[in-house]
Parts: sequence; C-alpha cells; structure tokens
Amino acid sequence: MTDGAAKPTQEPAQPQRQRMEADIVCVGFGPAMAGFLTTLSRQLVNPDGTPAVESAVMPGAPPQVLCYERADDIGFGVSGVVTRARGLRASFPNLDPREIPMAAPVTEEKVVYLLDPIGASRRSWPLRAADACIRAFQGLVPFEHDAVELPWSPAFLHKTGGLVLSMGQFMQWVGAQVQGTGTVQVWPGTPVAEALIEDQRVTGVRLLDQGVDKRGQPGEGFMPGMDIHAGLTVVGDGPVGPIGQQIDAHFGLPEGHHTRDWAVGMKFVVDLPAECSLKPGTVLHTFGFPEPEIFGFFYVHPERVASLGIFVPSWFDTPVRTAYRYLQHWMQHPYLWRHLQGGKLRSWGAKTLGESGRRGEPHLVGDGYARIGEGSGSTNVLTGSGVDEAWTTGTLLAESVVELLKARRPFTRQNLEETYLQRRRASWMEAEARVAEKSRDGFQKGVVRGVIGMALAGLTNGRFALGGEPVPPYRRIPTLEEYYRGRIPVTEIERLRKECSTKGVSLHGALMQRCGWPAIAFDGQLLVSHQDALLLGGKVQAPPGYADHVVFLYPELCERCGTKICIELCSGQAISPGESGVPAFDREKCVHCGACYWNCALPVPGNPERMNISFRAGTGGLHSAEN
Ligand SMILES: Cc1cc2nc3c(=O)[nH]c(=O)nc-3n(C[C@H](O)[C@H](O)[C@H](O)COP(=O)(O)OP(=O)(O)OC[C@H]3O[C@@H](n4cnc5c(N)ncnc54)[C@H](O)[C@@H]3O)c2cc1C
Ligand code: SF4
Ligand code: SF4
Repeated sequence: MTDGAAKPTQEPAQPQRQRMEADIVCVGFGPAMAGFLTTLSRQLVNPDGTPAVESAVMPGAPPQVLCYERADDIGFGVSGVVTRARGLRASFPNLDPREIPMAAPVTEEKVVYLLDPIGASRRSWPLRAADACIRAFQGLVPFEHDAVELPWSPAFLHKTGGLVLSMGQFMQWVGAQVQGTGTVQVWPGTPVAEALIEDQRVTGVRLLDQGVDKRGQPGEGFMPGMDIHAGLTVVGDGPVGPIGQQIDAHFGLPEGHHTRDWAVGMKFVVDLPAECSLKPGTVLHTFGFPEPEIFGFFYVHPERVASLGIFVPSWFDTPVRTAYRYLQHWMQHPYLWRHLQGGKLRSWGAKTLGESGRRGEPHLVGDGYARIGEGSGSTNVLTGSGVDEAWTTGTLLAESVVELLKARRPFTRQNLEETYLQRRRASWMEAEARVAEKSRDGFQKGVVRGVIGMALAGLTNGRFALGGEPVPPYRRIPTLEEYYRGRIPVTEIERLRKECSTKGVSLHGALMQRCGWPAIAFDGQLLVSHQDALLLGGKVQAPPGYADHVVFLYPELCERCGTKICIELCSGQAISPGESGVPAFDREKCVHCGACYWNCALPVPGNPERMNISFRAGTGGLHSAEN
C-alpha cells in the first residue's frame, strides 16, 4: 500500500575516500626519481632477503616505498638527451650502452651557427652585419650549406665520454631494474592531485579523483583519489609539477628566488634516410635559425635513428612563440635537411624545461618532504645538462634517507637539512650550478650579449657574467600590434585575427607567412601537419572521467587579452579560440608540456609571479617511450 505522498529521491551514496599508510611516497618517475629509487632500492634489503632497515608502518618488513607517475607508462615524457652521464655512471659503474635501446657513446660534437637562408628571421643589426661578413668572406671561414661549424667550442659544453640516450628507453630500462628489486613499487597512470599538508608538515599525497566531469564534479563511476600517508614525501614531478607548485605556493620560495627562466623543448625522433652518413653518437648543437634566440639539437642513435629538436626560450620576445612551426623550418635548413630529406617521423613530443637553476631553487626540504630534480632547480643552463643533475639529486637524497632510516631518525626538516641538504651543497652539481647561476642573464638583452655572457661566465668559472635580471613573461611579451609594427598594418592584424578566430585556428601561421616564412610543404613522412604529429608521432590519448588539468583562472583576463599567446604556442593545438574571447581547452590533444603555464601573457590580480593559467595534475598525454 502507498500513502500517495512524494518520496524524497535518494542520492546514491558516494564512495568514501580510502586511506593507506606507507613509509615513503614519491611523486613522478623522471630521471630524478629513477636516481632516488635506484640507490634506495639496493639498500633496503640484505643479501639474505632480511630487511636492512625496518618499516615504521609494517614492523618486521622493509620500508614500504610507493611511487606514483602521472603518464600512462614509464618513460612517456620527452627528452632527447646527450649527457656526460657522470651521475648515471656512478650508479651503474659497468654500464654498457649496448644494453640500453637507442643508446650510443658520444663520438663527435659540433656547434653550428645557422644563417638565415630564407630572409624571414628577425635579426638584430649586429647579427645581420655578422652574416654579411660571413657570406662576403666565405672562403676564409668554414662556411657550407648556409652554416658555419665553429672551429672551437668551450670545454664546458663538451659531453666527451658521455652518452646519447633516448630518455624514454633509458627510463624503461631503469624502471625494470628498480621494480625487479621487489623493494619499491612504481605505479604509472596514477597522477598525484595534491600534497597533504597538516600544521606545516607534509604528511603524504592525495591521488586524482576519477569519474568526474571536466570541472571535477563527481559523475557516474566517481572514485575519490586515495590518500597515502607517509613519513616522507619525495617530490620529483619536474619543472611544471602540480605538487611542486602547491608546495611553493604554501611555503613560498626562498628570498630573492623566482622561476622566470624556462624553455619549451620540442622534438622529433626520425628514421634517417638510408644514404645518411651520420655516425651513431654524433651530437650537433645549432643556434641562429629559425630565429636567433632558438637553439637546436641533433643527436644520432644507433641504427640510423636521430633525436632532433629546438628549444624556444623564455627570452624569445615574440607573441607567436610557436615551437611546432619553427621546428619544421629549422629541420629544413640546408645544413640539416641534407641529412633529413627522405627520413620518416617515428615519434614526436614536447616538454618544458625549468631553466632558473639555483635562482629557482625552492625550499629543498621541510618537515616530511624533500624536493629533487628539475623542480628543485637542478638543471644547469650553462652546460646544457639536466638529466645527470636530476639523477644526482635523487641519489643524494637516497643516501640521506638510508642514513636516517638506519639511525631511526624521523624525516624532519632539521634531519633532512643535516643529511640531504648538506650532501647537495657539497656536491659537484652544486659547484657547477653556482658557476651557471648568472650565465644566461645576457640573453635578457639580446642574443649577441647572451652568447658573450655565457662564454664569459663559463670561461671565468662564473666570476663574470653580463647582467640583465630576468623578468616575468607578461613584462616581456609585446602585443601583436607592437611586435609587427612596420611589417603588418594594424588593420590587417585585426582582419587575420577575426579570420582565424572564426576558423577556430591559431594566428601564428598567417602572421609568419605574411612575414616571409614559406608554407610548409607536407610530405606525409617527415613534414607532417601538427595534427598528424599528435596522432602519429605523440599518439596522444586522454582517458575519460578526469577533470581538465589546464584551467583559465580569470576568464575576464582572457577576454581582454590581445595576444592570446596560450593559443599560439600550445604544443598540441589543445588550446584554441573559444567563446567570448576565453580560449577553449581540449584535454584529448594535450601533451602535458606545461608551455601554457609558463607563457600566459597576464598575471593574476595580487601576484605578479603567478600567471592566469593553472596547470594541474592530469592523466594521458604522449604514448611513446622513444623520446
Ligand atoms: C626536448 C628536451 C631535450 C632535452 N635535452 C636534454 C639533454 O640533451 N641533456 C640533458 O641532460 N637534459 C636534457 N633535457 C632536460 C631533461 O630532460 C630534464 O632536466 C630532466 O628530465 C629532469 O628530470 P626530472 O626527473 O627532474 O623531471 P621530469 O623528467 O620532468 O620528470 C618528472 C616526472 O614526474 C611526472 N609527474 C608530473 N606531475 C605528476 C603528478 N602530479 N603525479 C605523478 N607524476 C607526475 C611526469 O610525468 C614526469 O615523468 C631536455 C629536455 C627536453 C624537454
Ligand atoms: S590564458 Fe593567458 S595568454 Fe591565454 S588568453 Fe588568457 S590571459 Fe591571455
Ligand atoms: S594545453 Fe597542453 S599541450 Fe598545450 S601548451 Fe598547455 S600543456 Fe602544452
């Protein structure tokens, strides 16, 4: 029998957030964490299988160590690498490159100045004068294929005795060894959403919620991310890691430190044509083209495969900092194209680098946490080296952790300062970081000054450098009208802007073409459209049921933003013109490079160091371990 009264609809009960205890929880599995876990995992158990040190959460067992990696598998990040491999060899004294796919010892290194064969690049008058002299006196300099191979390069750039690696392949090789010890667990496809912070102490991490809509609201199949509590949280989530960002926002940066220097790195892995004669281990570094500010790299792996790409730096003062288009022009420079023509795209990707070095160093330790890797300011911009340094920070922390575990001392700020911080301050990488600290400041005032400043800092062990305090991007990026003044009339920019917005495409292609950059003649093999690079090269994916990880914080700022540089530079064409002037984000195209986080043109109200894009934890991205 029913009484006829309307019954209240019952909301389905939401699943409860689960909680787990561990001894050490780690965020990210990049080179830094690989160094940490390689060193740690070897010291947790005695040769007879008994614990060398005891777990606090599982008495009688070795410490419980869990590592969560955002990407869908180990080694799905991006880095075409040449490294001196000092840190790597210290961990693997008998390392044989033949055991690691795509690894080769460095055999030849060249630094090459590329002239502009097209006449479209934006060169200062000293550079134009230098180019004219080179062309006029080409019999006297090693000038060939519109390029000059420098007859000499400073020792601090050399990678003699080092290795050319595919970071993806190397990470998979290390990952298998680390997990093979049975003492640590690595969980790919598991982004960490936030650090748990109680009373100024980091007590663990919370994993990302699943079964939510784009805004993070629970939907069908909602599963709240688990909380992992641990005595020590190791943060190695790279230069744009959300946990590093959260900790910086909570605890602040040391006085005078900032993270205003960075670069967007974009690369192709290419099957070189059969007739290519470049030997495995060949390392080419270029500068001068497609724009003077853009550096290029070309590393040759065994079996006629190469990793090649460009870095677009923070001090490239243009509102169209597009890496993909510039990469294609760079590849077609005659000096490089003679090796590449007829080659085939194998893999593609992009990622940003934190280039502030010591100046960007956060608080390295605190109660319950320690920072390692690029997010801890380890990358050396003078020597162009990040992997070895990141790896070494991990090994130094692991030695410190073992020392503390053996002494049964807790992971307090003081104990971590007395062990990890001390080791780090006494290390080779710290000494070299001091030399590099101001080495690139000259670039703030132009390329010629930048190159001279680098040489000065490198050759004087950091005693001298050319000044130029780095400024945040919004103070560097001119409006489109300012940048193209004298080249494209304001009315034409407006017309192109409207046309591109109507088509839902970025503007840089039209602007660059207007300034003399030729259209790219796609060949479907190596010169492919950006979309094809995403699908064929990056194999980009995004599983459903997760919130958007790129969020425009103040849409009203976007509405009045004239450059919309986030659209122009997006490495995956994931940001496009949207309604009412607010860009639209498509998670399924995002390669998680973080370029939009660094490059946004406007700061948020009340914080001049914080831009209008929030870059959060997210799933998916690149699906290739060849980068
Ligand atoms: C194109 C390119 C070329 C380069 N070339 C060289 C070179 O030739 N030589 C050299 O020495 N260095 C090079 N570098 C720099 C080098 O790659 C970095 O310095 C190095 O990878 C830093 O290591 P890391 O472990 O600190 O950070 P990363 O390599 O950034 O690793 C961080 C890891 O954390 C994961 N992560 C992020 N957020 C989360 C989260 N919320 N939850 C879980 N996991 C998360 C990421 O997916 C990633 O796997 C290059 C970089 C690029 C982009
Ligand atoms: S996110 Fe930044 S760059 Fe993009 S439209 Fe908004 S304010 Fe401009
Ligand atoms: S939206 Fe994604 S692909 Fe585009 S710049 Fe941002 S992180 Fe990179």
